[in-house]
Amino acid sequence: MKIGKYSWGIGDRFAHQAVAQLSAFVKAKEKGIELVPVWNKSNREHTYVQSVPAQTREAADIAVKELDWKGQYFVDADHINLNNVDKFIDASDFFTLDVADYIGKEAAAEDIEKFMADNKKFIGKLQIPGIAHPFDVTESLLKTIAKKFLFATQEAARIYQHIEAKKRKDKFITEVSMDEVNDPQTPVEMFFILQSLANLKVPAQTIAPKFTGRFNKGVDYVGNLQKFEQEFEEDILVIDYAVKEFGLPENLKLSIHSGSDKFAIYPIMGKIIKKYNKGIHVKTAGTTWLEEVIGLALAGNEALEIAKKIYAKSISKIDELSAPYATVIDIDKSTLPTAEEVNNWDGEKYAQTLRHIQSNKNFNPSFRQLIHVAYKIAADMGDTYTNALKKYKIIVGQQVSENLYDRHIVVLFGL
Ligand SMILES: [Zn+2]
Repeated sequence: MKIGKYSWGIGDRFAHQAVAQLSAFVKAKEKGIELVPVWNKSNREHTYVQSVPAQTREAADIAVKELDWKGQYFVDADHINLNNVDKFIDASDFFTLDVADYIGKEAAAEDIEKFMADNKKFIGKLQIPGIAHPFDVTESLLKTIAKKFLFATQEAARIYQHIEAKKRKDKFITEVSMDEVNDPQTPVEMFFILQSLANLKVPAQTIAPKFTGRFNKGVDYVGNLQKFEQEFEEDILVIDYAVKEFGLPENLKLSIHSGSDKFAIYPIMGKIIKKYNKGIHVKTAGTTWLEEVIGLALAGNEALEIAKKIYAKSISKIDELSAPYATVIDIDKSTLPTAEEVNNWDGEKYAQTLRHIQSNKNFNPSFRQLIHVAYKIAADMGDTYTNALKKYKIIVGQQVSENLYDRHIVVLFGL
C-alpha cells in the first residue's frame, strides 16, 4: 500500500465536517491536483471529546460515499505509541509513530557499537547530491547522533512491529514523527535517523521532523524564512539520497505537522517540492474546529450565543486549557477582549476576529489560539454544540470547505 504523492491531513474533532472537508479535495481535483485526504485524530483529542477511532472511520467512509470520491483516503492514528495504539488498530490505515519522547534515551551499548560500525563509511566529508557544502561527519558526531536518536528509532520499530503483527504488512501507511520537541533535527541527523529506520526495517512513507521556527497552533509560522527554506530543501535532498542508499520506500516524503495556517512557508514548500518533483504531507487539525465556531457565530441567534459562551468559558479557564499546548501556542493575554466585550459583538465581528485573514484589522491571533485549544469546552456542551452544527450545517460547512481550499490548498499549490 502506497500513499499518493500529495496528501493532506485533516482533523475533525466532532466528526461532523468530513463532507465539507472532502469537498475541498474534490475542488482541488477539478483543478488538476490529486490530493489524498487523511483524517487524523490523536489519542489526546479522542480523550478530550470522548470519541473513538471508529467514529473517525465512519465519518470518513460516509463522506467518501456521499461525494462519490474515487481516490485514496486514509484514517490516521495520529501521534500514537505502544501505550495507546491498540484502540486504533481496526479503524486506522495510517499510523503516526510518535517517538519524540524517546529522543535522548540511550540505546544498549552493543546497538550503539553496531550503529557506529554500520556508518563508519560515512566518516569524513558526506556529500549529498544537490547540497553544495559537504557535511563533516566525525566519529564523535556519529556517536552523539547514536546516543540521541538510536533508541527512538528502535522504539519506532517496536511500535511498527506491534501494528504489523495485528494488521497485515501492506494494510497501512507508516509515518514516523519527532516533531514535538524543542530542537529541530538537522539534515545530517535526519540522514542517520533514516539509516537506522531502514536498518530496523521500518517502512516509513512519511517522516515528520521538527523544523526550525515556531509552528504555533492555527496561526502563521514564526521564524527565519531563509533558514527554513534551506533546511526544508536539504531535508528533501537527504531523503532522496537516503532512499537510494538505504532502500527505504521510494515515495518517502516529508510530513509537516501543525501545518494549519503556515501561510508564510506554503509558497516556499510549494516551490521546492515542484523544483525536485517531490511529494508532501501537510498535517492540519484544529483549523476545522475554528471554522465551526466561525460558522456558528455567523449563523446568529442561539448559535452566536454558543460561540460567545465558548469564548467566555475559554477565557475563564485559559491557564488550564493552554497548559498541555504550552510549546505550541503564544497567547498575549493583554490583547484578549473580555467576555463582556465579546458578548456585545455581532456575528460578523466575532467571525472576523477569529478567521485567519491577517489583513483584516479585526483579526486577533491570540483570540484564535485560545479558541484553538478550547475544543474541550464545546465537547463538554455535548448535544447543545453538535445539534447546532447539524442545524447550521450549510453555513458551517461553507466555512470549513472555503478555509481548506482557498486559504490552504490554493496557497501551497499556487492554484
Ligand atoms: Zn505532530
